[in-house]
Amino acid sequence: MSTALSTMPAEQAPPQPEIRHDWTRREVEALFALPFNDLLFRAQSIHRRYFDPNQVQVSTLLSIKTGACPEDCAYCPQSTRYDTGLEVEKLMEVEKVLEQARAAKASGATRFCMGAAWRCPKPRDMPHVVAMVKGVRELGLESCMTLGMLTREQAGQLAEAGLDYYNHNLDTSPEFYGDIITTRTYRDRLETLDHVREAGMKVCSGGIVGMGEQQSDRAGLLQQLANLPQHPESVPVNMLVRVQGTPLAEEEDLDPFEFIRTIAVARILMPASHVRLSAGREEMNEQMHALAYFAGANSIFYGEKLLTTPNPRANRDMALFARLGIEPESRPLSTEPTAPSPLFYDAAAASEAG
Ligand code: SF4
Repeated sequence: MSTALSTMPAEQAPPQPEIRHDWTRREVEALFALPFNDLLFRAQSIHRRYFDPNQVQVSTLLSIKTGACPEDCAYCPQSTRYDTGLEVEKLMEVEKVLEQARAAKASGATRFCMGAAWRCPKPRDMPHVVAMVKGVRELGLESCMTLGMLTREQAGQLAEAGLDYYNHNLDTSPEFYGDIITTRTYRDRLETLDHVREAGMKVCSGGIVGMGEQQSDRAGLLQQLANLPQHPESVPVNMLVRVQGTPLAEEEDLDPFEFIRTIAVARILMPASHVRLSAGREEMNEQMHALAYFAGANSIFYGEKLLTTPNPRANRDMALFARLGIEPESRPLSTEPTAPSPLFYDAAAASEAG
């Protein structure tokens, strides 16, 4: 529940929109087609019924294993199939990861995300990643990992270690997906999301825009996410970072307003989820950031690098926050691995409560 709302007498608070899981493609496309101001007004109105509009959650992302990935995601410099000049790094030592986590905490991050360029973790990798999760949790940070596809057992191991979030993106619409990735299916991705949910972890799942897809594909991606049995708690919306050597290196620019529209529609479809500005922020100026926050984005990755692509410097984000009157979202510390945070709407708990 939003802290803004908690200061408002109950009788004055506007009703919260229904959380829906039955959006049709036509409805989602109709949102994209709204006049820009109407769309943003609607998104902002919904946003403030669930969140403090002047708080943005801050996460830091560390690449714990870089490059040499066997998958063929057309946007990704970490795929072994593309010659991008990326320096390959094997899985980091646990203590090195924790050093970075301490630094992230000192610079204001509340969530520490760790990403490994794998198709899926191998059994020999699991003890190391489990130790990382435990260490990050002991620092009082929320933990998130993205390690590729997970089996049910691996999801269980990570949940048991205390992992709060697992990131696995759907990337784009089911129709456009085959143009971007051929080495794993959409169904594979949905299955991993199922395993993460079944294990009791929170889901971080979103996609990438600007890959040459149509607006209907952006609608299709958001429709898929919004129609999951439970909305992802975190929805990263990435703008393609064109990397030389990848098949999408020469992709045309996406109209920046189309990016903002995507944020706004995500906010409307998934009112209680954190919508995150992720890759591509280096290309976005301050005005675009401000517009994205107004459209309902309320989470960013903060730090020097976003996996292998540049990310705006942390102090630039903080300076913009100060100019806009935005504060980094704090979180109550908890020792329970999957304790629900009041900063997140828990659809299951809400329906139990009637
Ligand atoms: S996006 Fe992930 S799975 Fe795809 S090539 Fe890059 S690291 Fe591998």
